[in-house]
Amino acid sequence: MNIVKHIRTKLRRLFGRKAKTAWISHPLFLLHEPGTSHPESPQRIAAIEAELEKQGILSAMQAVQAPEVADKQLALVHPRKYLRFLESVQPPAGKIYRLDDDTVMSHESLHAARYAAGSVVKAVEMVMKGEAFNAFCAARPPGHHAQTDKAGGFCLINNTAVGAMHAIANFRLQRIAIIDFDVHHGNGTAEIFKNDSRILFLNSFGQGLYPFPEAGCEAAANSVNIAFAPNTGSRVFRTRIREQWLPRLQAFKPELVLLSAGFDAHKQDETGRLNLHEADFAWLTHKIIQSAESAKGRVVSVLEGGYTLESLAASAAAHLYVLAGLGKPECAVKYDRHLKRGSKEKKQKHGETK
Ligand SMILES: [Zn+2]
Repeated sequence: MNIVKHIRTKLRRLFGRKAKTAWISHPLFLLHEPGTSHPESPQRIAAIEAELEKQGILSAMQAVQAPEVADKQLALVHPRKYLRFLESVQPPAGKIYRLDDDTVMSHESLHAARYAAGSVVKAVEMVMKGEAFNAFCAARPPGHHAQTDKAGGFCLINNTAVGAMHAIANFRLQRIAIIDFDVHHGNGTAEIFKNDSRILFLNSFGQGLYPFPEAGCEAAANSVNIAFAPNTGSRVFRTRIREQWLPRLQAFKPELVLLSAGFDAHKQDETGRLNLHEADFAWLTHKIIQSAESAKGRVVSVLEGGYTLESLAASAAAHLYVLAGLGKPECAVKYDRHLKRGSKEKKQKHGETK
């Protein structure tokens, strides 16, 4: 960490806002074990934590242990029959149960999923009561592919949806924005909140990837889907977000913003291939906070995908650097300069050929 950043961090701690960003996690998140060859591994959380520690971000946040979600909180999203089904297929220790080709339960998976949903409920409580400025849930298993009564895409319980319904039921919120920037279509969240006017669902995804939404992806009135071609890259990504998401987000005037924070659109990610850089996640985080001014900084970010450990850790760190109010991360300063230089050169070239 350079000296300017170090001083900025110290000053923020001395004079800055009292309620820090909450880092919400639980040891159970490491006990969901879908198998050694499965990309959604417990090492993902350890990799993020190590990078945050290295960059001095972890100490700028408050660490909070996730509680278990209550049955009545889960029932706002998933019918009891579905939850009883998940309980009935829970395998004994050392065994796994395959819900489908990708979605696997180990002995502690459902237990972990209940705390993952609980982490979002806790995050919503903390930001709504001013106990945290904003929050990040370092949760596993992820949730955005879980539909009302169907698991899928590594997901059992839709964590973000449970948090949104808790905010509606307990804090009487009427306008919640859910922004899903994972490279895979958030089909579970889309199904749960289809045409629910209390929710604005902004959803981006890579074409040709699971859950292959092109066939049946007619946008609901409350959602804005952006489908990106493979190798989209930073410039097109930022332009489309600027044009298609941000004006809609600002006009919606959300009281709370929930992020389905997947980092698998990074160019190094083994599943994504959208050719993004970790700086794009810092840029996006900043733009969301700026455009959702009405939410007064109340942002709850929930980990979804991101599977190559190095790029996952770098991207989550860039995202959290901005959320924790530490300014613009070094990687973004450098990369944005590079993007600007590229645009200038392009313009000059264009001018010469005119
Ligand atoms: Zn994903």
